Amino acid sequence: MTAPEDAKRIAELREQIRRHDFRYYVLDDPEVSDARYDALMAELRALEEAHPGLVTPDSPTQRVGGAPSGAFGEVVHAVPMLSLDNAFTEQDVVDFDRRVRERLDVESVEYSAEPKIDGLAISLRYERGKLVQAATRGDGTKGEDVTANVRAIRSVPLTLRGTDVPPLLEVRGEVYMTRRSFEQLNRRAGERGEKTFVNPRNAAAGSLRQLDPKVTASRALDLFCYGVGATGHWPVPRRHSEVLAALREFGLRTCPAIEVVAGVRGALDYYGRIGRRRDALGYDIDGVVYKVDRLDWQRDLGFVARAPRWAVAHKFPAQEETTVVRDVEFQVGRTGALTPVARLEPVFVGGVTVSNVTLHNMDELARKDVRIGDTVVVRRAGDVIPEVVRVIPDLRPKDARVVKLPKQCPVCGSHVTRDEGEAVARCSGGLVCSAQRREALRHFASRRAMDIEGLGDKLVEQLVDAGRVETPADLYSLTADELAGLERMGPKSAANLVEALERSKQTTLPRFLFALGIRDVGESTALALATHFGRLEALESATLDEVQQVRDVGPVVAAHVRDFFDEPRNRKVIAELRHRGVSWPDVAPTRASGEGPLSGETLVITGTLASLTRDEARDAARAAGATVTDSVSKKTTLLVVGADAGSKLRKAQELGITIIDEDEFRRRIGAGDR
Ligand code: NAD
Repeated sequence: MTAPEDAKRIAELREQIRRHDFRYYVLDDPEVSDARYDALMAELRALEEAHPGLVTPDSPTQRVGGAPSGAFGEVVHAVPMLSLDNAFTEQDVVDFDRRVRERLDVESVEYSAEPKIDGLAISLRYERGKLVQAATRGDGTKGEDVTANVRAIRSVPLTLRGTDVPPLLEVRGEVYMTRRSFEQLNRRAGERGEKTFVNPRNAAAGSLRQLDPKVTASRALDLFCYGVGATGHWPVPRRHSEVLAALREFGLRTCPAIEVVAGVRGALDYYGRIGRRRDALGYDIDGVVYKVDRLDWQRDLGFVARAPRWAVAHKFPAQEETTVVRDVEFQVGRTGALTPVARLEPVFVGGVTVSNVTLHNMDELARKDVRIGDTVVVRRAGDVIPEVVRVIPDLRPKDARVVKLPKQCPVCGSHVTRDEGEAVARCSGGLVCSAQRREALRHFASRRAMDIEGLGDKLVEQLVDAGRVETPADLYSLTADELAGLERMGPKSAANLVEALERSKQTTLPRFLFALGIRDVGESTALALATHFGRLEALESATLDEVQQVRDVGPVVAAHVRDFFDEPRNRKVIAELRHRGVSWPDVAPTRASGEGPLSGETLVITGTLASLTRDEARDAARAAGATVTDSVSKKTTLLVVGADAGSKLRKAQELGITIIDEDEFRRRIGAGDR
C-alpha cells in the first residue's frame, strides 16, 4: 500500500478501535470478540511501525484502555496503571525473554508466572492499613472512583492485617466474577427480562461500575491482587514474588496458581500446565503473565508507552470469535427431529477450525434470531461443542435472510410436522426416511440398546446404502459370507459380527423397548414401561390412559408410545424380530398392585453410575415402587452406590443400611445386566 492509503487505513483502524474501546470499557457491552479486536490492534501497530511519522500520542497503540466514563469521581493514579504487551506464539515469548536478557545482560531470568485473570484492573489505596480509595484503571493515568462499590466486595479487606502495616500502600489487582456467579446472574437477569452480560469479564466490570453500591453488593465479585503501585516508606521486598507473599500476610488475596519459574522453558511449561487446567479453574483467564521476578531488574528494564518491558501476557487461543453465517441447513435425526445447523465461514476458535454449529431447534434459532448473512460470535471452550453465542445486530446486512422451517424433509421429502408448543420439528417419514433408518439402526445396535458389538456407524451406512438392511429385523438375516464381502470386513470380523448378532438376541424388555427408538422413550422411560407392564403384549394393547398410568409418563410420551404401536409397519418389524429369535424374560409387572420389586424401600443413590444418569436411576427406582430421597437417614433402607461415593456411603455404613452396587440395582429393577 502507498503511504496515503496506509494513512487512511490507520485513521479507519483508530476510529474502529476507539468505538470498540468505548463499548468495552464504558458500556461493558463489546460488539466484537477480543480476538477480532486484537487483530485490529495488531494491524494498526504494524502500520504504525512502517510509518513511525504517523504515530500520534492519542493513538490507541500509545494509550491504555478507555477514558473514565464521567459517571464517577475521578482519581489520578499516583503510579500509572499500565497495560501488558501480548505474546500470541511461543516464538513471541522466546523473543521477549531474549530482549529481557540482552537488556539486562544476564544468562537467565526467573519469572513470576501468573494466570491472566479476565476481569478488570483495580487499584486499592490503604493508608495506615485502612482502605481509603479504590479506582478503576481508566486510561491508565486517571481512573474512576469506585470506593463505595469496592467496599462491598467481601474479599477486599477494609483493614490490613498485622501490626507492621505500611503507612501507605497501593495494591493492584483484578476484580473478577466466577463463572458460576456469572451464570447465576445471567439466569436471574434472563428471568426478569433484563439485559444479560456477554461474559464474566463484562459482568464483573458492569457490576463494579454501578452507581448504586447496593447493586454491586448483590453481585458476587472477587479480587486477586498481583502487584503494588505507590508504596510510600514501605521497605519493599526485593522480588515480586515476595511482594505477593507480603500482600497475603496483610490479608489480601492472591491467585493460588502463581509460581516462580526458571527462564523461557519454565514459562512455556507453565503455560501448558495452566492451559490444561483452564476450564477447571472456575474463573476465566485469557492467558498467563510472565513478570521478571527481581524488582531491581524490573526497574532497569522500565516501560514503553503503555506497558512495562519486564512483563508480557502470553495469550491463550481465543475461545470466542466472530464469523459469518453462510447458510442454515436442516439435519434429520434418529427420531426424525430436524436440527438447524449453521454453516459458517470457517473460523479458528478454541484451538480448532469450526465451520458448522448446531442451532438446536426452531425456538433456539428464533431466540438468538440468527439469519443467513449475519455476523455471529462463536464460542468453543475446552471440549464443549461450539455454539453461537449471539448475533451482532449492527453488522447485519440488509439482505440477511430469515431461516424458515422447510415444509418437506430434506432427506426423504415427507411432510414436516411440529406439534403445538414444541420446539422441535420432525419428519413424518418414520422408517421410510433413510436418515432415520440409519439413525434407527445405529441406535438399535448401540451399547445401551441391543449392544451389537462390531456393528459400527460405517457398517450401518454401508448396509443401508446397499439397500441390504431397511429395518432392524433385516440385521438378523445377515450372513457371514455376505458380510465378509463388505469394505473393511474380513472373514474373522464378519464371523464375530454374526456371533454378536446372535448374542444380542437374548436381551431384556427395557433394552428392547429402548432399542425401538420410540420418540421420547429413553432408557428410564423404557424401564418404567417394562416394569409397569411386565410383558410387551400388555404394553402393545394398552390404551392411551393405561400408558399414562406409568410413573413419570405424561400425555405427550404416552401419545408417542401409542402412535408407535398403532403403526402397522412398526408392529410388523417387532413380529419379525421375535420371529428371528429376539427374546427376553418377562418382568414382574407392577401394574396390578401398584407395587414393584422395590416397593417399601426408601432409597438413596450416591456416586456416579456407569449406565444411568442420576435422574434416570431415580425414575427407574420410583417406577419399581421405591421412595427416593436425597439424604441418608434412619428411614433409608437401601443405598445404591456408584463410583466415587463419599459421605453418604460412610453414613449408610454407620447406620447399617443395606448397600447395593449398580449391577444389583439393575437386577432388582429388572433392567438386566449392563
Ligand atoms: P490486557 O487486558 O490484555 O492486559 C492488561 C491487563 O491484564 C491489566 O490491566 C490487568 O487488568 C490484567 N491482568 C490480569 N491478570 C494479571 C496479572 N496477573 N498481572 C498483571 N495484570 C493482569 O490489556 P488491556 O489494555 O486491559 O485490554 C486489551 C484487551 O482487552 C484486548 O487484548 C482485548 O482482548 C480486550 N478488549 C476487547 C474489546 C472488544 O471490543 N472486544 C475492546 C477493548 C479491549
